[in-house]
Amino acid sequence: MKTFLGWLLALGLAASATAQDTGSAPDLEMWRLGCGELEISDMAAFSDAHLYDGEPRTLTVSCYLIRNGDQYLLWDAGLDKALVGASFTQSGATLSMEQSIEKQLESIGISPSDVTYAGVSHFHFDHVMQLPDFAQSTLLIGAKDWEMIKAATGPDPLLDPRPFAPWLGDDTGQVTAIAKDHDVFGDGSVVMKATPGHTPGHTVLLVRMPQMGNVLLTGDLYHFEEQVTNRGVPEFNTDRADTLASFERFNATAKTLNATVIIGHDPRHLDRLPPFPESAR
Ligand SMILES: [Zn+2]
Repeated sequence: MKTFLGWLLALGLAASATAQDTGSAPDLEMWRLGCGELEISDMAAFSDAHLYDGEPRTLTVSCYLIRNGDQYLLWDAGLDKALVGASFTQSGATLSMEQSIEKQLESIGISPSDVTYAGVSHFHFDHVMQLPDFAQSTLLIGAKDWEMIKAATGPDPLLDPRPFAPWLGDDTGQVTAIAKDHDVFGDGSVVMKATPGHTPGHTVLLVRMPQMGNVLLTGDLYHFEEQVTNRGVPEFNTDRADTLASFERFNATAKTLNATVIIGHDPRHLDRLPPFPESAR
């Protein structure tokens, strides 16, 4: 037994020494970008079981920039940058934004042409409106969401094909439509995971940071913490059973990997990453 443990220990030490010597651990860095704010007067629509009727709530809109070596992934593309300096109120919701994604990237010396991949958790307007600024990037999107965008005919706020124009039609940008899970950089460091239900092709993002450890970005699987505990399923989700199954998959993954869960819309989660322009490693 002693010999066997000794052998395991030696093997483990050898493996970690090799990883350090060759620098084979992915060189990852992540920034949280401000992509707007949504002030909602009544959250009723966020539960089909009346869990939040009459409650007001402010939701942040988050995007993320992830660097792997010299490649960049933009994860979600936020509200319309036309909102900068001009907030907008409609149907009990006020939308606002401080700075566009492009301006924020500029302040850390990154231009849209540096962004290899523009990935979205799903096609809703508050996650995609600044995509046209990244027309040269390869679009990463759940395949079932992409099918719906390609088939969409008119500008419905929850299914608007216009921000995807650079990737639609002839002579257009590259698209990777993901059937289930997708290893973005091919080294296991950043993985899109299928979590359908909010939309048919919704994905969350697992980021395996070298120092911070595993991080799970929820997309709109969850909009705020209470949804995790009382399993609130929004009325506007495309499939209730799929949503509950995705909650299960996500929660089990988070527990197994001891991941930091970051709900992009919950302002209470803003301090889980350093404030921009600081980054996490
Ligand atoms: Zn959504």
